[in-house]
Amino acid sequence: MVEAFHSQLPVLAVEHDDLRRSRRLLLLMVAIFVPSRLPADDPPKDDMAEVKTAKDGVGKEAGAEQDAAQWLRGRVVFLAEVLESRGARSVPDARQRVLALETERGELIPLLEDRRGHAFRADDRLRKMELELLVRRLPGTPVVQIINVVELTKGGRFEIDYWCDVCAIVMFELKPCECCQGEIELRRRPLAKDRSPLPGIK
Ligand SMILES: [Zn+2]
Repeated sequence: MVEAFHSQLPVLAVEHDDLRRSRRLLLLMVAIFVPSRLPADDPPKDDMAEVKTAKDGVGKEAGAEQDAAQWLRGRVVFLAEVLESRGARSVPDARQRVLALETERGELIPLLEDRRGHAFRADDRLRKMELELLVRRLPGTPVVQIINVVELTKGGRFEIDYWCDVCAIVMFELKPCECCQGEIELRRRPLAKDRSPLPGIK
């Protein structure tokens, strides 16, 4: 019995030491890994709720943005040229790459270059106009799509498009007529007074 007891003592001592060592090791590991792991792998429940709400919010907002067309006033410019005038230089290649609406407040809103947007690249008369654009924001982007172009003058508001007299058809950018391939003209038609909700110019 005694022999057996003695022979077990060193084993117990070793086990005790091992236990202490592994506890210390565990504490060390907790100290090292837990603070850096918590935020990434196991976000607190409140954060999760916030993330979910934010995602839902984006979805709802995007849907609303897509549906809600709005009128914006300003002038169409090449984005990089205006940025350059504000001290942000681009490489020469980029200068006329993106069209934007420069609003009255000086905000720059990139324009989708579909046919309506491309009209502003093709015809510099349009880039000289004070405008009211009816636009729709593309969900999840700062880009807007032009729905309607209105020139704002002291004589009133004029809807802008292109017209072929021969074929009596309307087009949205300057190019040979889609029908007769002849020349088309820039057309200005007075806009009905209640069409734009923006205040008139002084
Ligand atoms: Zn024609």
